[in-house]
Amino acid sequence: MRNVTILGATGSIGQSTLDVIRRHPDRFAVHALTASTRVDEMVSLCRDFRPRFAVMADVTAAARLAEQLPRDLGTEVLAGETGLCEVASAGEVDTVMAAIVGAAGLAPTLAAAKAGKRVLLANKEALVMSGQMFMDAVAESGAELLPIDSEHNAIFQCLPSDQMRNLGGAGVRRILLTASGGPFRTFSREALRDVTPAQACAHPNWSMGRKISVDSASLMNKGLELIEACWLFDTRPEMVEVHIHPESIIHSMVDYVDGSVLAQLGSPDMRTPIANGLAWPERIDAGVKPLDLFALGQFNFERPDLERFPCLRLAAEAFESGGTAPAVLNAANEVAVSAFLNGNLRFIDIPVMIERTLSCMTMEVAEDFDALFAKDREARARAQEQLPLIAV
Ligand code: NAD
Ligand code: MG
Repeated sequence: MRNVTILGATGSIGQSTLDVIRRHPDRFAVHALTASTRVDEMVSLCRDFRPRFAVMADVTAAARLAEQLPRDLGTEVLAGETGLCEVASAGEVDTVMAAIVGAAGLAPTLAAAKAGKRVLLANKEALVMSGQMFMDAVAESGAELLPIDSEHNAIFQCLPSDQMRNLGGAGVRRILLTASGGPFRTFSREALRDVTPAQACAHPNWSMGRKISVDSASLMNKGLELIEACWLFDTRPEMVEVHIHPESIIHSMVDYVDGSVLAQLGSPDMRTPIANGLAWPERIDAGVKPLDLFALGQFNFERPDLERFPCLRLAAEAFESGGTAPAVLNAANEVAVSAFLNGNLRFIDIPVMIERTLSCMTMEVAEDFDALFAKDREARARAQEQLPLIAV
């Protein structure tokens, strides 16, 4: 029996994780569920899964949850980042689903890594921000880091399991990272000026949280994933080639020196990589419908257009700059996406805000996590200062 903590239980990945867990009560027990502010959803999840702990990142929400939870459930309520880190590292827990969105997920995901857990990484921003320091923490504790992002999970499945960080030794020539291209793939630069948050969040293939949906539309998601792939598989951006594949059926590929290209295919449903990570190295039913290639008919591929979608270029450059540049990129992107979702920034100005933030900050190697968090805060402040200068 695996005892699981789900960080970000009320989100899209959290819900899919609970759906897989619900199908296998003999294999998985829920130790803790966490959320930010949604108390009503948390009450209903606690009734269904009877976790030992329920954590609300928001302290006021935690107080409301404690009032509303029936006593006989036996669920204890914790609050804030301390609570999140506690349930991510508790001795009874062996698996942690890291599915908080954005930089807010770094501290608890890191706590799980330091405690040597099986860490199922959906929260790519945590790894993008902290890179080498996060990978060092994993190596030191012997944690088992398994990728949940569909592309990285696909690559993981196409690599020999003991050579995940030894691509040269495994005979890998390139990683072919696929991308759907998002809802604006065919839009002209002109048309991109007027796109709305509702359009950006209506992804053609995947149903996801709002932040990652906007990232997919701007191709920043692919930029973050390029950086994520470099850290996970110990490689360089020039070894990773982004392929736009609008059908989102091939979730990524590995090209070997003998000419073999291995791909992982499946319906665009996050329950597949989640089930893969939860049960690895076994396979379990994820509730995903079988792939019907006859209905699909054909696969298409295109090169990404960095003129219309500069975020992918900005991410690659930030990784090349190194140090705290990816953390600054990530923080500025979070501020820009939130301003766009609130109607205060045009979609095409997301990369403008990020580029200006990057250019007005100095990048050095962060000495420790405190220095990194300080850089994240500074980047948010600098990005916020840009807002009145470029706002709609
Ligand atoms: P979501 O917005 O649906 O859910 C986010 C979760 O994080 C919620 O449970 C929310 O309560 C929690 N949260 C938000 N802010 C928080 C804070 N400040 N402190 C603590 N908890 C907080 O997002 P999602 O789509 O489920 O994505 C989660 C992560 O997984 C992201 O990093 C995303 O990039 C990654 N991911 C998602 C998908 C997908 O299909 N949804 C695919 C690949 C990777
Ligand atoms: Mg992905």
